[in-house]
Amino acid sequence: MKKVANVYGSGEKHWVGNGFQVQSMFSYNDKDKNLDPFLLMDYNAPRHFDGGRKSDFRGVEEHPHRGFETVTIAYQGEVAHADSHGGGGVIGTGDVQWMTAGSGIMHEEFHSERFSMEGGMFEMVQLWVNLPKKDKMTDPKYQAIKAADIPNVELADNAGIARIIAGDFVGTMGAASTFSPINMWDVRLNAHKSHQFAVPESHNLIILVLDGTVQINGNEIARRGELVTFERGGADVLIESNNESKLLILTGEPLNEPVVGYGPFVMNSKEEILQAIRDVQSGNFGKIARS
Ligand code: MN
Repeated sequence: MKKVANVYGSGEKHWVGNGFQVQSMFSYNDKDKNLDPFLLMDYNAPRHFDGGRKSDFRGVEEHPHRGFETVTIAYQGEVAHADSHGGGGVIGTGDVQWMTAGSGIMHEEFHSERFSMEGGMFEMVQLWVNLPKKDKMTDPKYQAIKAADIPNVELADNAGIARIIAGDFVGTMGAASTFSPINMWDVRLNAHKSHQFAVPESHNLIILVLDGTVQINGNEIARRGELVTFERGGADVLIESNNESKLLILTGEPLNEPVVGYGPFVMNSKEEILQAIRDVQSGNFGKIARS
């Protein structure tokens, strides 16, 4: 089994723009954790937003990214996206937006028009997934992954269900295409059930508990809002649910390349960060087209 390194409580909430009230579960500055190739996780725990907004939608204004991918998982609520590479659309409950910033993209993220009008519960996770050095300057790309396109796997013994966002799950291939070997599973466990998840020995493993309480490998307890990190080595993880639980399981082959991050840019060297800043200033990231 993979050995639990730490169980982290949820951090302080802060606003990203005026649309996302998130807790930083980890970031690329946490050098001591085995997170590679994952760079950052912001968790917007369930929060109610009032409706009645016809304009001036809540969200984050235009901003750049370079050198990695942003993955937004919509558990509840709707987000509208527009970017300088022509990507765009609305993701709603159960959908995933997988944006490859690559060589550079400007984008904005807002509550959708419908959600702004109707209001309701809002729950999201945004992940930053690193790109291998050779792919950091790849062309930007946008994958809008609808819930219906995400394969479901029923776990044995009526233990629950896994939605395979990326990677593979005992032969079922995930919906997203990735640049390095990654598994991303949205897992629901029924109460008092257990499942041993197959995780390659070479992968790092991270688990976010979005709901419920689980026991990991027969000893460590993790509760709603907590993040579990693991030591390197060992294969597989055994998860038992004390009640109905909702987990985001991330595994990935470490890139083992230098990580130099500054705000919305994550590259391999300081010089590449300075170049990214110059490129944004000179308009090389393009503009979001307005219809
Ligand atoms: Mn962004």
